[in-house]
Amino acid sequence: MICRDAIHTKDKLYSWGISEDSLCCRCSNGIESIAHVFNECHVATEVWKEVRSRNQEYKDAMDWDGEMLHATSNYSGLSL
Ligand SMILES: [Zn+2]
Repeated sequence: MICRDAIHTKDKLYSWGISEDSLCCRCSNGIESIAHVFNECHVATEVWKEVRSRNQEYKDAMDWDGEMLHATSNYSGLSL
């Protein structure tokens, strides 16, 4: 669903007239898009930093498109 941009984030709800704003519920510092929720929001960056540390993965964080390309190239077919 994430790869298909099929999660109803506030940017979509706002564009459909369902939400009064499109700001992120966690930080109010960005538009709540899939890229923001899963990669750009400070909450997401802290989660990913911990995941990378626990997996001893020392690559630099990338933008959302870069992360998706990395994931599909390296983890396709693997379960979490
Ligand atoms: Zn946020």
